[in-house]
Amino acid sequence: MKPWEKNIRRVVPYVPGDQPKGDRLIKLNTNENPYPPAPGVERALREMETDGLRKYPDPAASALTGALADYYGVGQEQVFVGVGSDDVIGMAFLTFFNSEKPILFPDVTYSFYPVWADLFHIPYRTPALDEGFRIRKEDYFQENGGIIFPNPNAPTGLEMELEEIEEIIRHNQDVVVMIDEAYIDFGGRSALPLLEKYENLLIIQTFSKSRSMAGMRIGYAIGHPDLIGALHDVKYSYNSYTMNTPSLVLGAEAVKDEAYFKETLNKIIKTREETKVWMRELGFHFPDSKTNFLFASHERIPAEVIFEALKKEQIYVRYFKKPRLDNSLRITIGTDQEMAALRCFLQKMVR
Ligand code: PMP
Repeated sequence: MKPWEKNIRRVVPYVPGDQPKGDRLIKLNTNENPYPPAPGVERALREMETDGLRKYPDPAASALTGALADYYGVGQEQVFVGVGSDDVIGMAFLTFFNSEKPILFPDVTYSFYPVWADLFHIPYRTPALDEGFRIRKEDYFQENGGIIFPNPNAPTGLEMELEEIEEIIRHNQDVVVMIDEAYIDFGGRSALPLLEKYENLLIIQTFSKSRSMAGMRIGYAIGHPDLIGALHDVKYSYNSYTMNTPSLVLGAEAVKDEAYFKETLNKIIKTREETKVWMRELGFHFPDSKTNFLFASHERIPAEVIFEALKKEQIYVRYFKKPRLDNSLRITIGTDQEMAALRCFLQKMVR
């Protein structure tokens, strides 16, 4: 070992899903939206003047925080934006999980949480989901340095009742509780109304799924102005200009078109519910997803076998070779045509 190597911060990084290239493949592996962003986004992109790129962007990202504040009926000082919700959650870990006591998140959840905890040297405990993959609220009544979980959870797709979430927050008013609502728009009940009652609640959402803009990298947090202020202080101590000018302009455009947003969501929800029916007929079972993906196992054929067979057909889904997850496939809901191609292949395979 070279002497300077002892000072290197060693981390085991998060591994995102593959981004395979090719025009004939069907990509159902990273929970992207199969439909394009709102038409206004394309228009704004065409009209964008490159001279604007000469200048630094607005460090407060006001165009975007303003559009989000209007949309959700909250104050602009209650909104924080970042480079995807990954950036927002990472900043929030750094800002709020600063106790000697362990933070809590489920054993089966978004696999980035333990990576941030390790990176920032935050102690953590991971209460196990029950056998039906549900979060047990009582596990979060123990002493802790903060709490985070997604609702609906990933990769299970299961939603937790808002009343249960409120019980967790009520038991934990001396720490920050973060709800990662990356998939909430696909039919779940948001915890946003609870913000009026709980100053320690931070809700995080993203443009990557329901707003079809994963490539733009926009995420946001909504919470009490004191929480948002603390997030800004940490952000400005690290990088003032996280949000580039195109993100600010195009993100604000996307938020304006509520009709398109609702139409796209309804199409995906309809396809998801139809997919549930035919997948059950083919012998698959899965938790009852409220997201844009299903976490499915087959009654006979191991998930890894199906995963490899699909890959050969250029149909990409996500497989996690991890305890409790390694007999399931996480399948993103695509267009009706994409799901028909998947169905056609699976029908032949399970026969
Ligand atoms: N939270 C959850 C639960 C997710 O599945 C994802 C997607 N990988 C994210 C956050 C981050 O998404 P993004 O950074 O694209 O907003």
